[in-house]
Amino acid sequence: MAPLKVVILGAGFGGLEVASRLSAAAPDDVDITLIDQNDSFVFGFSKLDVMFGRTTLPQVRAYYREIDKPSVTFRRETVTSIDPSTRKVATDRSTYQADVLVVALGADLDPAATPGLVEGGHEFYSVDGAARLASVLPTFTSGHAVIGVMGTPFKCPPAPAETAFMLHDYLTARQCRDQVQISVVSPLPVPVPPSPATSRAILDGFAERGISYLGGQTVAGLDPGRRTATLHSGIDVDYDLFLGVPLHRAPQVVLDSGLADSGWVEVEPTTLRTPYPGVYALGDVANAPVPRAGVFAERAAAVVADQILAQLFAGDVTPYDGYGMCYIEFGDERVARVEVTFITANGPEGGPFTPPSRDLAIEKDHFGTSRLQRWFGR
Ligand SMILES: Cc1cc2nc3c(=O)[nH]c(=O)nc-3n(C[C@H](O)[C@H](O)[C@H](O)COP(=O)(O)OP(=O)(O)OC[C@H]3O[C@@H](n4cnc5c(N)ncnc54)[C@H](O)[C@@H]3O)c2cc1C
Repeated sequence: MAPLKVVILGAGFGGLEVASRLSAAAPDDVDITLIDQNDSFVFGFSKLDVMFGRTTLPQVRAYYREIDKPSVTFRRETVTSIDPSTRKVATDRSTYQADVLVVALGADLDPAATPGLVEGGHEFYSVDGAARLASVLPTFTSGHAVIGVMGTPFKCPPAPAETAFMLHDYLTARQCRDQVQISVVSPLPVPVPPSPATSRAILDGFAERGISYLGGQTVAGLDPGRRTATLHSGIDVDYDLFLGVPLHRAPQVVLDSGLADSGWVEVEPTTLRTPYPGVYALGDVANAPVPRAGVFAERAAAVVADQILAQLFAGDVTPYDGYGMCYIEFGDERVARVEVTFITANGPEGGPFTPPSRDLAIEKDHFGTSRLQRWFGR
């Protein structure tokens, strides 16, 4: 029998995990094409390290050319159209006909959608934005630093809090922390709503360090002349340095495909199936009831890979449960860990919270290196 043609759009957390699992489990029975517009992968959390000068972009890039897996072909191409009813995909260089199509194109950032953000602020959610900030932050020594979220959904909900802890350490090391006020503006009423213990630990950490948290608020726009951020509630917040989390949206090619009429790809939560046979969507681009974070994309990828394998060999598939184990930077080289399961009969359920420690910082490092090993063979 001819191998099953699996076309995976997007080589991020989700796409890399599906490709790795299928290649490992059924190298002779699948023919995988993995497509991404970029030449390399960067972990979301590495952007924070780049921004604060703890590392550099070249050090954190994993190049797709390193992928050497049975039955996996990587193509650096931009996807230009997706027809979910025929499972045909066009790119800037070729066309593909899939037996199984996996849409893992992530979420795009739209800084221009917020008035004044591009002119008057900075964003740290893209690789380029984080790298730019690495040269801006050394010039900031006094005033009000505002870390502000423009709207929901946004990737890695604890990231604004992590940024505040890391900014505190950065300014302390440069001996100018006393001249800087730090505030976080977030739509989340508390930093990690499904885990009260995590939220309490973050808010206690903020109180110890003099960091303010404005929960339940989003930024509507910036006035670069007055250096004021206006929140949707009408409150004005003056700033000297604005670190923004831009609005997120599904990539235009996905919006144009008819897969995302609600703005994100509609999926059956426990299977990640779209209404189109043989078409799955997972990770940030999908509207599964989980946060936008790599750990959730990775677990969803395992469920999708299992279903593709069950199509080949039969077998049981465990439904997607929206479980994720997240590491949270608390500053002072300490990291905490929280577990949450989002798809349960009773809604999101917070699991254990492990307080910040240096041992968990080592565990987080291992989390990253183990993925690079699995996906890139490093
Ligand atoms: C600052 C920050 C910190 C974070 N920290 C964490 C963390 O600690 N833990 C965690 O789990 N998550 C974290 N995240 C979130 C995490 O990075 C994302 O949720 C995760 O990468 C989503 O995986 P994905 O596969 O859905 O999408 P992505 O990893 O974004 O991959 C999507 C891929 O699709 C490609 N693509 C898009 N459009 C096209 C196109 N038209 N043609 C071809 N290719 C295209 C992109 O180039 C990209 O490589 C963080 C994010 C940020 C910004």
